[in-house]
Amino acid sequence: MAETKKLYFEDTYLIEFDARVIEKREIEGRPAIVLDRTAFYPEAGGQSCDRGTINGVSVLHVVEDGETIIHVLERTIEADTVHGRIDWPRRFDRMQQHSGQHILSQAFYEVVKGTTLSFHIGDEVSTLEIGVPKISDPDLDKVEARANAVLFENREIKTYFVPEDKIGTVPLRKPPKKEGRIRVVEVSGFDYSACGGTHCRRAGEIGLIKVTKADRIRNNLRFEFVCGGRALRDFQDKNRTVRQAAAFFSVADRDIAATIGKSLAEIKALKKKVRKLEERIASYEVREIIHGAQGKVIQAVFEDKSPEEVRFLAVQIIHRAELIVLFGAHGDNQSHLILAAAEGLGLDVRTFIPAISAVIQVRGGGSPSLVELVTTEKGNLGPALEAARKSLE
Ligand SMILES: [Zn+2]
Repeated sequence: MAETKKLYFEDTYLIEFDARVIEKREIEGRPAIVLDRTAFYPEAGGQSCDRGTINGVSVLHVVEDGETIIHVLERTIEADTVHGRIDWPRRFDRMQQHSGQHILSQAFYEVVKGTTLSFHIGDEVSTLEIGVPKISDPDLDKVEARANAVLFENREIKTYFVPEDKIGTVPLRKPPKKEGRIRVVEVSGFDYSACGGTHCRRAGEIGLIKVTKADRIRNNLRFEFVCGGRALRDFQDKNRTVRQAAAFFSVADRDIAATIGKSLAEIKALKKKVRKLEERIASYEVREIIHGAQGKVIQAVFEDKSPEEVRFLAVQIIHRAELIVLFGAHGDNQSHLILAAAEGLGLDVRTFIPAISAVIQVRGGGSPSLVELVTTEKGNLGPALEAARKSLE
C-alpha cells in the first residue's frame, strides 16, 4: 500500500506544502486522495484531524490506514500535483490542547499519583480519565499549579524517534502501545510520552491549562480541561456570566453562590407561606359557598381557579356539609369536571358520568364520593354539568 511521508512529524508549523497524488479512492461516497507527502494530521491517538484545502478544495476528513494518510475531499481533484494548505488556527488549537494534556497528565501523576487511563481531544471538549476515585479541591489546585508552572518556565517540547531496543532508556510515563521505532514527545525534563500527535515547540505557547469539570466514571475521575485560546474563551464566557449574575444581586463576584443559595431558601419559605394563605382563603370561600347554597346541589364553572384549587374546594365542601358539588375548571391544556358528594348522602357520583358523556367527550374516573374528568371541550362544561344535575332529578 502507498506510504505517505508525514511532514507533520518533522515540522508541526509547516502549513503549506506541495505533493504528488499517488492514489485516488472513494470514502463514504466522497472522493479521497493519497499523496506522497502530507502535512495533514489524521484523526489518530485521541486527537481530531486537521482541516484545510488541497488545490483550493476543502479537506473534510483525514484518516490513517497503516502508513497511508487519506484525505477525504469535498469534490474531486483532477491534477497530479497539488498544493496543500492547513487550517492553522484549528491545528494550533489542537497543538495547545494536546501538549497541555501531556503536561496535565504528568502533573496529575506527580501530585496525586493518578495515572492517565484515556484522553480525548475533541473539537469542543477535551477529556482526561485519571485513575483516582476522588480528589480534593486543594489537590486539584495543586495539579493545575504544577501544570501551569511548566508553562511559565516555557520548557522546550522536543519530539524524536527512539529505536525499539533503546526505548527502555527513556523514562516514559506510560509504556508504548506500538512496536518498533517509537516517537517520543518530551516536555524537557518533565514528561516523556510515546505519541504521534502534533505539539507546540515550547510550553509557553500553550498559554494556560485549566480543568473545568470533574465527573465520576467507573471508579475513576474524568476531567474536562481547556488550554490556550479555549481557556481564554472559557474565562471570557464565565466572567461575563458571573458579572451578569453579580449585577442581578448587586453583590461581589465571590458572594454570588451564597447569595443565590439564600434567595432560593427565601423563595421556598415564601412558597410555603403562600400555600398556607391560599388554604386559609379557601376555607373562607368554602364557608361562603356552603352558606349561599340553594338546595342540595352546588353547580359552578370557575374561570379564575386552577383544577387543583377547585378540587380542594369541592373536598372541603363535602366534608363540612351534606351537599353535592358539580364543578368545572380550566387547566393549561384541558378542562376538568369535579363531581363530589358528602358520604352521608349515600350517593355514587360516578353515576353522573353517562349523562356527562352524552354532552362532551371525557376521560377519568374516581370514587363514589369524588370523580375527576378531563375534556378538551372547554366551552361545554356548563351544559355537561347541567346534564349531570338533570340526571339526578
Ligand atoms: Zn500525545
